[in-house]
Amino acid sequence: MPTYSLQREILMEEPYDLVVAGAGPAGCAAAVCAGRLGARVLLVEAMGCLGGMATSGLVTAFDPMANGERMIVGGFMAELVETMWARGFIPAGVTPDYWRKFYHRWTPFNAEGLKLLLDEMALAAPVEIRLFTRVIDADANAAARHVNGVVIQNIEGYRFVAAKTFVDATGDAVLADLCGAACREPGRDTPAAMPPTLCSLYAGIDWERAEKRHPDKFKNEQELLEKAIADGMFTQPDRHLPGMWKAGDQVGYLNAGHIFGVNALRGKDLTDAMILGRKLAAEYTAFYRKYMPGCEKIEHVTTASLLGVRESRRIVGEYELTLDDYMARRQFPDQIGVFNKFVDIHVHNTSHEEYERFLLEKDKYRLGEGEFFGIPYSILVPAGWDNLWVAGRCNSSDVPVHGSIRVQPAAAMMGQAVGTAATQAMRTGQPAGDLDTAALVEALREQGAYLPQTQLSRQMTRR
Ligand SMILES: Cc1cc2nc3c(=O)[nH]c(=O)nc-3n(C[C@H](O)[C@H](O)[C@H](O)COP(=O)(O)OP(=O)(O)OC[C@H]3O[C@@H](n4cnc5c(N)ncnc54)[C@H](O)[C@@H]3O)c2cc1C
Repeated sequence: MPTYSLQREILMEEPYDLVVAGAGPAGCAAAVCAGRLGARVLLVEAMGCLGGMATSGLVTAFDPMANGERMIVGGFMAELVETMWARGFIPAGVTPDYWRKFYHRWTPFNAEGLKLLLDEMALAAPVEIRLFTRVIDADANAAARHVNGVVIQNIEGYRFVAAKTFVDATGDAVLADLCGAACREPGRDTPAAMPPTLCSLYAGIDWERAEKRHPDKFKNEQELLEKAIADGMFTQPDRHLPGMWKAGDQVGYLNAGHIFGVNALRGKDLTDAMILGRKLAAEYTAFYRKYMPGCEKIEHVTTASLLGVRESRRIVGEYELTLDDYMARRQFPDQIGVFNKFVDIHVHNTSHEEYERFLLEKDKYRLGEGEFFGIPYSILVPAGWDNLWVAGRCNSSDVPVHGSIRVQPAAAMMGQAVGTAATQAMRTGQPAGDLDTAALVEALREQGAYLPQTQLSRQMTRR
């Protein structure tokens, strides 16, 4: 494509200590934790609310936070889910054992409740929130691996915002890429990405009449789906159905309809995916109405405004967390969280073989009850950069481990870690790559993180 050069003067905002790009679970945790530690924080979010995939993406269930014996996700995320429960934002029938104890159990929640709570937590921290605002460029010294500031864009036009530190929590490593940090892209550096899904909300479900696996999940979706596929209900015979989850008395959140062949870093692909996602959602509405007891009168309230992207660009970090680490249940001196979720790599096509592959891997790469693996700090530091961190989906892990830690509780732990690390870096003058990680771990423990490693190290784990 030809290039075009444009030069213009833009207004400069007052500088911040920390700019966080993206307000999903990772960005919110980073911003709130840094704000609480006294940093002047700007949280920049492209959509109209905080929460990212959890709210704008209508992914209204937290992945497992316990391992069958105890809650292994603490800190900000534990505070969030406990407050959601206390405020009545967790559906009836779901008990605290879901997140405090059970093995591999999802905790559904009310998305409006989460929006409200995140607003309150951010304002109280305090954090300055800028909604409907996108980070579109960066002024970075790629040789010195230092970020000076970002260009943001909203209704007021372009603004330059300088800061001492930066967190990329965009999910797609947008800021890291704009800065020139090394990144891996699916289809270029790793196999093609998992397909996205456009999630939906439904009303009018008679959960009492439905046959259920546990209070918030249907029992027999898979068998009924196979029948509906055989009956010709669907444009594509997608056998992998994460399914409908109870999100309120008569409400369900649907995670269904893989959209194959999408590169989530291409604007046209995202557009086409939203259009096909809405068509698929209409097909699933017809499916549930016709086949699922309790769903005869459901109404499709809305599809999400954010496409459910599972996998896109990730940074090349100081360390890459691998399947070997995962299978070894490896503990790291600088781990900022521990986790237990299975390797969840969704189907790449509609074949029977691919669905069998998914089922096989899901059980093969799964830790047992009471177990966990560590998430080291160094997967959040773009290699060599001194005032830039990432958190959430764009972390440095191989494809299988990413399939485990791409989810909301892990993203929130990463966010808490980098928000805390950024404030420590400002206070001590230590760059991201030479941060005293023993001090970071102690600070996170004080904030309620569950970090059971017995050995600490001043240095982070490196490859
Ligand atoms: C279909 C689907 C189902 C899932 N199911 C579950 C589940 O059941 N439980 C679970 O825990 N997890 C689930 N996940 C995973 C999880 O929701 C996400 O991976 C997680 O939210 C990642 O958190 P994040 O903060 O890294 O990114 P996100 O939640 O994606 O947030 C990134 C935010 O950055 C914003 N942004 C992007 N670019 C810019 C920019 N340039 N400037 C400003 N803002 C920007 C976006 O608008 C967004 O709000 C699911 C994911 C998908 C796609």
